[in-house]
Amino acid sequence: RAKSEGRDTYRLYDHEMGQEARARRIMEHELRHAVSRNEFSLVYQPQKKIDTGETIGYEALLRWKHPERGNVSPGIFIPVAEESGAIVQIGEWVLQEACRTAAKWNEALTVAVNVSPVQLHSPHFALTVHQILLNTGLAPQRLELEITETALVRDMHRALATLRQLKGIGVRVAMDDFGTGYSSLSNLRAFPFDKIKIDGSFIRQVDTNQQAATIVKAVLGIGRGLGLPVLAEGVETSGELKFLAGEFCQIGQGYFLGRPAPLESIENEVAA
Ligand code: C2E
Ligand code: MG
Ligand code: MG
Ligand code: MG
Repeated sequence: RAKSEGRDTYRLYDHEMGQEARARRIMEHELRHAVSRNEFSLVYQPQKKIDTGETIGYEALLRWKHPERGNVSPGIFIPVAEESGAIVQIGEWVLQEACRTAAKWNEALTVAVNVSPVQLHSPHFALTVHQILLNTGLAPQRLELEITETALVRDMHRALATLRQLKGIGVRVAMDDFGTGYSSLSNLRAFPFDKIKIDGSFIRQVDTNQQAATIVKAVLGIGRGLGLPVLAEGVETSGELKFLAGEFCQIGQGYFLGRPAPLESIENEVAA
């Protein structure tokens, strides 16, 4: 009996695994065609100076509208696209679309684009960025690439070489989700970042939570010491914003300052 139960359990497990793997394969396949089927779009979230409230730029965030399932969260589909390699083509579309769009904005505004580790390590990434800038006419200084630490640990030498090429082109590079990866401090020293983005998880309740406050103050101190501006992600309340202002955090991003929005609804703000 125990034996047959074991076998049934195994069968059930096997079946579920099969379902999951199949669902994943279907999504991988769908993602390979999503660019040509025009299922992707970008939304833009403002990044604002904390002392004046002035918008300095926007982060482009990818949205996928699946024909049957509707909007799928990037938290779900990006890992699948990374694993299958489809992120390289998708990421190129994002870069092209974001640069083409920002080239028409007021030239004081920057556009920030997320770069997956897989994309960063793909062949000729810096060359691709360079070509997209030439094609779209966006000034390199107006493009900021957001890179997480997982991109760096994969292959430090290669990551450093690519970051240097990107810096050579003139684009800026921000460390995204700072504090959630590992060996953050040595990465800040080893790589030529222009900005630190503190992860939203540290900003949540920073005005009421002593531990969060201590961590955010420490990151701001590191930024000051290294001469790097710090952007606080995920600012959701006026209390959090006041705390950040009091600590001289330079830049903020989050629902309290502005939600990610389609291009049509920010047309007045970005007008040249
Ligand atoms: P991220 O780069 O850290 O982007 C910030 C995420 O936080 C976005 O979620 C944004 O909508 C959300 N957010 C902004 N303000 C607030 C706030 O006040 N509270 C809360 N709770 N959340 C806030 P989204 O758009 O779902 O993107 C999630 C992640 O997916 C991004 O994290 C990024 O890692 C990835 N991603 C998005 N677009 C792209 C892309 O074009 N390429 C790549 N490679 N990754 C992308
Ligand atoms: Mg980002
Ligand atoms: Mg982030
Ligand atoms: Mg994130």
